[in-house]
Amino acid sequence: MQRFSLDSGPGNVPEQVPAPDEFIVSFEADFVACVAKKARVEAGAALARAQERSLRIHAPVAGVVTDIGPGRICMARAQDADDAADEAKAPQTASETKQALDALQGAALAEALGTLGVDAFALTLPAKAVVVNALNPEPGMVWVGSALNHCADTVRAGLRALQRLSPAQTWYFVTAHEAGGLFEDESLSRYAVVRPKPAYPASMDALAVKAATGKELPEGVLAVGLHDVFNIGAVALTGTPLTETIFDVAGKTCRAAIGTPAAHILEHCGLQPQDGDIVALNGLFRGRALSDLRHGIGKADISLAVVRAGTYPPVSDAPCVGCGRCIDVCPARLSPDMISRCAEFGLFEKCRKSYYVEACMECGLCGFVCVARRPMLQYMRLAKQESASLEVRS
Ligand code: SF4
Ligand code: SF4
Repeated sequence: MQRFSLDSGPGNVPEQVPAPDEFIVSFEADFVACVAKKARVEAGAALARAQERSLRIHAPVAGVVTDIGPGRICMARAQDADDAADEAKAPQTASETKQALDALQGAALAEALGTLGVDAFALTLPAKAVVVNALNPEPGMVWVGSALNHCADTVRAGLRALQRLSPAQTWYFVTAHEAGGLFEDESLSRYAVVRPKPAYPASMDALAVKAATGKELPEGVLAVGLHDVFNIGAVALTGTPLTETIFDVAGKTCRAAIGTPAAHILEHCGLQPQDGDIVALNGLFRGRALSDLRHGIGKADISLAVVRAGTYPPVSDAPCVGCGRCIDVCPARLSPDMISRCAEFGLFEKCRKSYYVEACMECGLCGFVCVARRPMLQYMRLAKQESASLEVRS
C-alpha cells in the first residue's frame, strides 16, 4: 500500500529550529545532576551524569539552571548564549578531542563518547555482524533521506566510528535510498548495501536484520539505527558534546538543541495544536501522545507530529470482534487478537506460553488496522513487560 512507503526521497536540508528562551533537558533514572539550582552553566558543560557509566548530558546553550526535578533539568538561556556557545566550541580543544577520538576503539572509544553525551556501550559487545538500519522508521518520516543526502559527512563519521566500536567482521547497511556515494570512501568499503522493498514494517530491526542476513533472529547480529550512527558521527566529526538532535516534524527534517520544548518546535513549524488534537512523539504507529508540550526534545527523539481532531476514530476498550485483520498484518506471525484478549484479563503467562508475545516487534500495525479500535500496541507492550517480569520471578 502506498501509504506504508518508507521511501521519502532525498529529504530537505535540515532546518535549524532557533533556540528557545527555556529548555527542559531530560535524562534517565540512573542519572544525577552535576549542577545546582541557580548555577550559571556554559554551553556544552555537563548537566547530569550516569551513576555507573561515563555517560553525561550537556547544556545545549549557556544559561542558568532554573529547576532540577526527577529526570530533568530546566534552564533559562543566557542573553549572551550565542557568544558563549562559540567559546565552548573553541576550535583547538574540539580538534584535540576529535583527534583523540579518532585514535580510540572498543570500550575506550565508548567511554570517551559517553563523556560527550553518546551512549555507545552496547555497540562494543561481542557480535559477528552489524546491521545499520537506515530505513525511515515509519511511513511519512523523511529525516533518513535528509541525513544521507545532506549530512553525509556526519553519517560517514558515525559509520567509521562504529567500525572501531564493534568487534564484528561483517557489516551491512540497509536502506531505501541511493547510498552509493556514501561508500565511495574506502574506509567504509566493508559495508554491504542492502535495499529491501521499502514498505512498512521493513524498518523494524528484526526485519532489517533478516533482509541483510537472510535469517530470522540470527545469533550474534547487532542492529544499529541510523539515528544512533548520526549522533556518534556528530560527536566524532566535531569533537564537541552532543547538544542537538535531528528529527522529523510532519514531513520536514529539523535540527534543534536538546531540551527545546515541543511547543516551541511546533510553533516554529506553524503547527500549533488546537483543542482535541494529539501531538505524537516518535511516530504515529509506535510513538506516544505527549501530555505536556513543554517536553524537551531528547537526543533519541526522531519525530513530532500533530494528529488533528477527527482524523482517526478514538481508541477504546471495545471488545474484539474477531475480524482477523490484525493476524493478517502481523509481521511476526502472531495472534494479536488473542494476546490482547489475554492481556485485557491479566492472563500474562498465557500471552507468553501460548501466544509467544515476546516475539512481538511492536510495529503497531495490529492497532492501526483494528476495526474495534482496541489499543493493541499498548496491550502488546503490557503483555511483554508483565510476562517478562513473571519469567524473572519464576
Ligand atoms: S505490534 Fe502487533 S502487528 Fe506488530 S508485531 Fe506486535 S503483535 Fe504483530
Ligand atoms: S483487528 Fe481488532 S477486532 Fe479484529 S481480530 Fe484483531 S483485535 Fe479483534
